[in-house]
Amino acid sequence: MIKNPRLSAYKRRKVTLPDGRREYRVWRPDLREALADLSAGRADALLCLDLDRAFRDPKDLQDLADVVEFSPHSIVVESCTNSLHMEKGHDNFDAEVRVLVANKASRDAARRVSMARERQARNGQFGGGRRPFGFCLGPPDVPDGAMPDEVVCPWHGGRSCKAGVTTIDYEIEVVADCSHRLLQGLTLRALAAELREGDVSTVTGASWSAETLRDILLRPRNAGFMVHKGQILEGVRAPWEPIVSPEVFKAVCELLTDPSRRVGPGAAPRWHGSGIYRCGICTPLDVVVDEPVTCEVTGGGREPRYRCKERNHLTRNAGKVDELVFANVLYTLTHPDRFDLLAPPAPEVDAQALRGERAAIRARLERMAEDEVLGKRTAGQVAAATRVGKARIAEIEELLNANVTDDPLAEVINSADPVRMWRDMGLANRRLIIDRLFTVTILPSGKRGRGFYPDSVRIDAKQPLRPLLAAVA
Ligand SMILES: [Zn+2]
Ligand SMILES: [Zn+2]
Repeated sequence: MIKNPRLSAYKRRKVTLPDGRREYRVWRPDLREALADLSAGRADALLCLDLDRAFRDPKDLQDLADVVEFSPHSIVVESCTNSLHMEKGHDNFDAEVRVLVANKASRDAARRVSMARERQARNGQFGGGRRPFGFCLGPPDVPDGAMPDEVVCPWHGGRSCKAGVTTIDYEIEVVADCSHRLLQGLTLRALAAELREGDVSTVTGASWSAETLRDILLRPRNAGFMVHKGQILEGVRAPWEPIVSPEVFKAVCELLTDPSRRVGPGAAPRWHGSGIYRCGICTPLDVVVDEPVTCEVTGGGREPRYRCKERNHLTRNAGKVDELVFANVLYTLTHPDRFDLLAPPAPEVDAQALRGERAAIRARLERMAEDEVLGKRTAGQVAAATRVGKARIAEIEELLNANVTDDPLAEVINSADPVRMWRDMGLANRRLIIDRLFTVTILPSGKRGRGFYPDSVRIDAKQPLRPLLAAVA
């Protein structure tokens, strides 16, 4: 007799069938045991309470039908609700159809569970599983007989935090810091190496790897976005303070998911200038602009071309433009005065203290705003204080950024073989170097036909070096 199985049991596992085959089935140990008994002749009848409850998967029913049909002894299968009757030599079709219907109902239930998860995500609740780096698991369940006050969150010490919602300071610091420094040009590998040396461990305790860090930095929750089934829920804000701004998060994603970053050393370099090289029509050489119009690459086929991002009025052979830019990079990297390009090292700052000061200013400004509401301060006083406070915050942020910015050029120029280092460098790092060294502008070529004219690309050094005798094309 099969008792009611747990109805939520809808998970699949590999099971051994009576004939020894191993296949995926809804995991039902009770049913498997019954089938084995019937098949071995230890039992000759099977009684279920109800067909729908006993068989969630038509394949299970097929297994039972096989046992009934092919066993050397006779087997009778019956259910209390009369929904199932099987016997050797009978057509068991009716039972199978019923199971198919039951199975669909079960899938509908699974869908309902999934909708509940979405509701949870919308409310900012944690869906369960391994804790996301940066967030605690909340206070553990209180075991029988224990005092709740003594069973506390290992990270926060109390029982007030929430799983997947309450942040762990030293971990979100890692997320913010690595996101920013990645954008400033450090590689995942370099950051992971640094973390391996540090005090903050991964969630599993495994050693930090570039891949682990990448997974963490790509999490929308870092920017306070809620996710359901891989999609960011529009208009839903997480109940925690975003760790990085949406802009930083977006830039990190673009950087980490750029397929051209996976190009290994030696592969034909392409796409070096997308978003960097300027359109010479939209952004003429003699005009100073904050936001130059840049080019993107079109035609991933045989001859990709840089094209103005905004209008369809300028395209140029991407490979040829890159070649020209590379020649200028190599010229610069081998120039005797190349060390002059390196900026003096950023001043040593106490980042921890600066961050503390920034938080304190923010807290004070908030208190002042409350005081204004209570009439303890005038609006003018609060406005003046806010101005001063915000100016200091801006100053602090500049110091913090200066401190974490590594000149991407330094590593190359200080290396024993800058040319080789450039050649072995990943595309993202090369882009940093190009952008650091030059303003590249693709000029309109006029009506000179389809050829490539080197003088139709203007490459201006951001920090010009004294010209050497041998000029570069
Ligand atoms: Zn906690
Ligand atoms: Zn343009």
